[in-house]
Amino acid sequence: MEEFIAQLNEAQKAPVLHTKGPLMVIAGAGSGKTRVLTYRIAYLIQQGVDPFNILSLTFTNKAAREMKIRIADIAGSAETKSLWMGTFHSIFAKLLRFEADKLGYPNNFTIYDTQDSQRLIASIIKEMQLDKDIYKYKQIQNRISSYKNSLITVKAYFNNPDLIEADAMAKRPRTGEIYKNYVDRCFKAGAMDFDDLLLKTNELLNVFPEVLQKYQNRFQYIMVDEYQDTNHSQYLIVKALSDKFQNICVVGDDAQSIYSFRGANISNILNFQKDYDNVAMYRLEQNYRSTRNIVNAANSIIEKNKNQLEKVVWTSNDDGPLIKVHRSITDAEEGRFVSSTIFDTRMNEHLHNGEFAVLYRTNSQSRAIEDALRKRDIPYRIYGGLSFYQRKEIKDVLAYLRLVINPKDEEALKRIINFPGRGIGQTTIDKLMVTANHYGRSIFEVMENIDKIDLKINSGTKRRLSEFVNMIKGFQIMNKGADAFSLSEHVAKKTGILLEFKKDGTPEGIAKMENIEELLNGIKDFVEGQMELADATGNIAEFLEDVALATDLDNDKGDDDRVALMTIHMAKGLEFPHVFIVGMEEDLFPSAMSMSTRTELEEERRLFYVALTRAEKQAYLTYTESRYRWGKLVDAEPSRFIEEIDEKYIENLTPVSNYKYKSLIDKNIFGEVDKSRLRQVKPVSGIAPTTVKPNENQLRKLRKLRPELANPVSNNSDLDPSLVEGAAVNHSRFGRGVIIKIDGVGNDKKAEIKFDKGDIKKLLLRFAKLEVL
Ligand code: ATP
Ligand code: MG
Repeated sequence: MEEFIAQLNEAQKAPVLHTKGPLMVIAGAGSGKTRVLTYRIAYLIQQGVDPFNILSLTFTNKAAREMKIRIADIAGSAETKSLWMGTFHSIFAKLLRFEADKLGYPNNFTIYDTQDSQRLIASIIKEMQLDKDIYKYKQIQNRISSYKNSLITVKAYFNNPDLIEADAMAKRPRTGEIYKNYVDRCFKAGAMDFDDLLLKTNELLNVFPEVLQKYQNRFQYIMVDEYQDTNHSQYLIVKALSDKFQNICVVGDDAQSIYSFRGANISNILNFQKDYDNVAMYRLEQNYRSTRNIVNAANSIIEKNKNQLEKVVWTSNDDGPLIKVHRSITDAEEGRFVSSTIFDTRMNEHLHNGEFAVLYRTNSQSRAIEDALRKRDIPYRIYGGLSFYQRKEIKDVLAYLRLVINPKDEEALKRIINFPGRGIGQTTIDKLMVTANHYGRSIFEVMENIDKIDLKINSGTKRRLSEFVNMIKGFQIMNKGADAFSLSEHVAKKTGILLEFKKDGTPEGIAKMENIEELLNGIKDFVEGQMELADATGNIAEFLEDVALATDLDNDKGDDDRVALMTIHMAKGLEFPHVFIVGMEEDLFPSAMSMSTRTELEEERRLFYVALTRAEKQAYLTYTESRYRWGKLVDAEPSRFIEEIDEKYIENLTPVSNYKYKSLIDKNIFGEVDKSRLRQVKPVSGIAPTTVKPNENQLRKLRKLRPELANPVSNNSDLDPSLVEGAAVNHSRFGRGVIIKIDGVGNDKKAEIKFDKGDIKKLLLRFAKLEVL
């Protein structure tokens, strides 16, 4: 037996040594699923399987890189070069580069990121003269994305009366047309959006049997991590590719399925056994990541979910400290608690910043934490916020480079045709666009032929358009010989972008210039890094592809020591010794948008399970009594998830007063209170309580700092006064009804409503969004 196999326990060894046929590993967090995949690939290579024949799909490119390094350690670095390992999007973008011409796309197609897609959709909505308050471009983009991920093409959409009807009912009857225009425009621009990378791969494998065969023969061994979060489109690709050899190994945890809002489909796990013959099932039960208190606490949460597979997770690790729960009065105070705890723990236990992570439900929560960390001079990195590559000045430079590779790229062209300003006005651009649409050509092609078309554009403007075309063509010629760095440097200078920000002279302008320099440094790094790879050339096209697919997480080289800040969604698969889960409040986590059905609430609970199981040694849960949301200070109450943890695993840093504990009790999915669960929450002895409410002095100070506090707005202040007994109301799910009784006060105010459909329900007013009829 190879010596590295000894680094696995018996349960882990079995799926590693099982190399033929379909197998599935379903196991809880931290039990070594990712480790099994890594070692399995190393083992396959040692058994003589050519890495060229292995495909491994991961959740982040960072995970792929780490696995590759580990495999190189075990099997030798030469062996990993031809191994295809990465996210679905990056792997299939790569595959499409070879095959796109079959679908009528150029092989140098552009990848539109979400922002590009949204800009294009917004401009289509405008061109169609639709009301942008009804046709919200972000919503439409979401909708198109979900169609694509369910493989509903434009044609399929128009053949499906239900979909047409649904959009008509939503008062957006022209959604289908927008979809069609969007798809046409992307095609004409030689661009694919993120969802296309999967949709077009499916199309390719479906329509061209010889292509399917080619890749079936190539990928004789297929592995998928985080299988619970694959969507339908991804599922079909895996199914098609593995159909011939059926050597497929998927690992996942249904308890960590957190992407159903993006179309991930848990039934992919449940149906795996039906989809393949003789599936071998493996379970892992021992958690190596976390202390016993964390493992047990996590188990006590997830068992509240009804829809889950039976699973055992235990650990032989130490009990470790209890999970610490902290209450504060404002989000600023919450931030200070986090920063001072990191500061003290780091000092006392000689830790690195990188051993701490702060996780939150929504991106906007990072601000208060950042402020506090900055005040303490604690370095941090935000993952997945506005990425470096999404900053305006960076996107501007990248747009020029995108045009060099694909001059049809409409979004890139519109971005920079007049930036830096070169006297090409919006009227001219509109004329070019109309003409391009008319001839079914790209804007660039129209510009190339500007002298042959009568556009009523004056000769000065024509000259400027031709100069622009010639400049881009000049870059294209240079690109044939130069590496990505030399080209980009030349582009940044020649286009005048660098000069533009330099001239500006303001601190913002200088910061932008520095960012561009940073981009150029990054490209240089990239070129040098690429030299080591077998199938890479260091060309700018490869760099652009990397950028288009990168999330901030993927750009972490792990070379500097910072506290990690990220949403829980981003944290999947990762681990940190000390983890803060902040904003543990009702309406925030669980999110107000996800409380109306048990299914939604269960997904929020899984999200909490993912968050807690990231911690190796110490977990902190923090909540505040008031928080700024949408510019207002609103009352907040502790998340039901805190109460759901078995209390023997918890230490309250701030004892909960009797008056508060009422809000800690569980609520059912309709926001009703289950009185049987009322119980006393014992204050923990020996810890001095922090101020429960600010005293007059503090209030005065607060009022000065934050005048809004003088009139705090509570959650229920916007309740409609016409919600009285006898009022007719409408509820989004239960329909029409009449209020028969109102009781309770403040946040606990409830209405008993008799719905027309027959049933009587008691609803908490601040959750039930009732419309008075
Ligand atoms: P998640 O569900 O969060 O993705 P996972 O099941 O993929 O977790 P891994 O990340 O593979 O779990 O493993 C968790 C931690 O436990 C890692 O640090 C890993 O190196 C360690 N580990 C797993 N198995 C063993 C083992 N047999 N011996 C020592 N350490 C192990
Ligand atoms: Mg994992």
